[in-house]
Amino acid sequence: MTETSIKKIAVLCSGGDSPGMNCAIRAVVRTGIGAGIEVFGIQKGYAGLLEGAIRELSVSSVGNIIQHGGTMLQTSRCPEFMTEEGRREGANILKRKKIDALIVIGGDGSYNGAHKLHMEHGIPVIGIPGTIDNDIDGTDYTIGFDTAVQTAVEAVDKIRDTANSHARTFIVEVMGRKSPAIALKVGICTGAENVILPTTNIDFKKIAADIDRGIKRGKTSSIIIAAEGEVEGISHSIQKNLKEQFNLAAHVCILGHIQRGGNPTPTDRMIASEMGHVAVKALLDQHKCSATVFRNGKVMMAPLTDCLRKKNEFDESEVNLLTALSI
Ligand code: ATP
Repeated sequence: MTETSIKKIAVLCSGGDSPGMNCAIRAVVRTGIGAGIEVFGIQKGYAGLLEGAIRELSVSSVGNIIQHGGTMLQTSRCPEFMTEEGRREGANILKRKKIDALIVIGGDGSYNGAHKLHMEHGIPVIGIPGTIDNDIDGTDYTIGFDTAVQTAVEAVDKIRDTANSHARTFIVEVMGRKSPAIALKVGICTGAENVILPTTNIDFKKIAADIDRGIKRGKTSSIIIAAEGEVEGISHSIQKNLKEQFNLAAHVCILGHIQRGGNPTPTDRMIASEMGHVAVKALLDQHKCSATVFRNGKVMMAPLTDCLRKKNEFDESEVNLLTALSI
């Protein structure tokens, strides 16, 4: 680390919570204090910033949180921060408290807020990718994805037990909004017969034919993993279509918010800890507008502008693997 003018930094979580955010907060606080700077926690994201809900964090204040899902700082969505006036107010509050830089743990929306705060008011910002959706451009990984996949896989394994016992078809809806990442991984890891991605049209004829082929081959259950897409509940319309068009009865299970909670996996704890650590070092090394990213298996820094868009594309090799194995 080089000589730095940074004396006080703040950290907040914004957007949806994800397991592992606590690990990142802990790493930010301990790396900062270890480097001789003061670290402040902002409660409830940008909304808390505008309310001045800011407190100094000590080494012990982040003790015993590494294993917990959610975020000790809480998080929120804050429409006011979408306005220039809101961001000016936020910048003034940080300046009044003599906070030199801000670390934002969140998704691409939160990054856009941080980017504007920097561009409009010169405040150094660092983004740490925190969302279960793994849908931020510029990084192969976002904190919470592994835990969410693990939760969903455990749930689908349980559903498979009952589906087998009753020779049933289940449509299991997983989170991820327009990102196909969770659905694809869960589909591969549970041996699902079909995965419905938000990025492709639903081919009901193929789904029905696949299920029929499986039954003829002696399968006692079928699992269809459906990515939620824009709004939760798409699995009900899939169920209706399969019944009406092919007289195929399927049960629906929407996993919902259980995928957002739970103890972070070791992978999430490791990546989040390293990202929190590296984020503070980057600020001390004079980074002004950057993000921690995971590329080719390594945590590193990148310009925040690499990460301002949502990523919806999927890994073609995962689709090929799924297709090859679900015959
Ligand atoms: P997730 O992926 O979990 O939804 P996210 O960070 O993308 O996380 P958003 O709801 O998009 O979640 O954004 C969180 C907050 O970031 C918003 O409530 C708002 O305060 C701020 N924000 C989002 N987009 C912008 C923007 N374009 N300009 C300024 N601030 C923004």
